[in-house]
Amino acid sequence: MTIATDNTDPTAQKSRRNRKSRRSQKPPRCRRCRQRTTKSYVGPMNPVGNAGRPYYKCEPCGTFACFGDKRGIHASNLPCDCPGSKASRVHLTGPGRINTGALFYKCARGRCGFWEWKCNAYGDQEYYLGDILAPEEMAKLGF
Ligand SMILES: [Zn+2]
Ligand SMILES: [Zn+2]
Repeated sequence: MTIATDNTDPTAQKSRRNRKSRRSQKPPRCRRCRQRTTKSYVGPMNPVGNAGRPYYKCEPCGTFACFGDKRGIHASNLPCDCPGSKASRVHLTGPGRINTGALFYKCARGRCGFWEWKCNAYGDQEYYLGDILAPEEMAKLGF
């Protein structure tokens, strides 16, 4: 409950003014156990530049639902399977996985199961293998 008060995100004020679109941002239900998810913030040691990002997670089963911001959502992204085909969100695969650095699309709102690797026009999987930068700089890269 106290986390909202020290929110220094410069976009916070803008989204407060834009109350109508905020309402659709209510926590999604967990896709695994159907519980209502709760909002948290990514810890400072996040290895892929996500520190401080808001996200929704199911406390009972630990499933990540989606981020609670607009980062990585672009009109040119593949549409997800939600009604109305919403633009999905680009994510970066973290360290220690087979596809570390691979970019992938995921439902931006955590409501449908859409998930797909990001590929270029030739069908080759796209990677980001550059340095992990501060969250604001990573956001400028588009994911
Ligand atoms: Zn769950
Ligand atoms: Zn969706």
